[in-house]
Amino acid sequence: LEYAISVFDDISNIKQFENELIEAKKLVEESLKLKESFLSNMSHEIRTPINAILGFAELLGKRDIGTEENEYVRIIRSAGENLLRLLNDILDFSKLESNMMVFEEHPVSIDGILNSICVLYLPKAKSKGITLSYECDNNVPEVVIGDPVRLTQVITNIVGNAIKFTPKGSVLIFAKMISSNEKTSIIEFRIKDSGIGISKDKLSRVFKRFEQAGVETTRLYGGTGLGLSIAKHIVQSQGGEITVTSELGVGSIFSFTMEFANFNEAELSNATPIE
Ligand code: ADP
Repeated sequence: LEYAISVFDDISNIKQFENELIEAKKLVEESLKLKESFLSNMSHEIRTPINAILGFAELLGKRDIGTEENEYVRIIRSAGENLLRLLNDILDFSKLESNMMVFEEHPVSIDGILNSICVLYLPKAKSKGITLSYECDNNVPEVVIGDPVRLTQVITNIVGNAIKFTPKGSVLIFAKMISSNEKTSIIEFRIKDSGIGISKDKLSRVFKRFEQAGVETTRLYGGTGLGLSIAKHIVQSQGGEITVTSELGVGSIFSFTMEFANFNEAELSNATPIE
């Protein structure tokens, strides 16, 4: 009987523990949502003055107010842009953490997105003497259904780093089909650079939030330490995986997969448009 009572006690303890866990989980979810909404409101309040600073700095930058003064204006603009980037990164990170990031579904041209990213980064790459190009395998569908903004964000975070941490050589982007069925296609994106590389002990930490290679790197290259962690969250929440291999002084390869719904023109033209 004693044994039966102790088992019964254990079971009720487990039940109580389970209920406490459920309550704790609810509290965590609620506090994440509160944090997200606090950050959204704050970011709106901060964005307005930053935009005023940036707008007037841009106007001033167009005037010839003296070499030294123009340099000050350039520094104000660059600091303002960094602040805006940090704000957007923190907001995105918080949305991803509390599962509040909304992923949209639109027809997406993979080739078009890679081309736009190359066009965007070409001036920066050229100024450093880096070759930047992309290759899209023939079997990658012309159009898929996905979120173009979030896909672009993941690739630009990686490509931006690749260019930043590559003193000379090349940055190459590849896209290839991994598998497909009637409904979906899994595409792999690979970004290969011939840059400074990442040491073995730091490799496992690059996807962690606010992780940077070290004080020296931060001072030299700037950045928020959130880019790769946001990329990882986006990729994982879309059912994909992100990995990196690297060799110091040789370069790094970042790869990630993403699953897209197949684009079906007939289905789309039969769909009732949302009014
Ligand atoms: P950051 O804003 O500092 O670039 P990220 O999360 O994008 O933050 O990257 C984290 C760190 O990983 C960087 O500070 C850098 O040290 C390292 N890193 C990322 N990409 C590369 C790369 N292609 N080559 C060398 N180091 C890299």
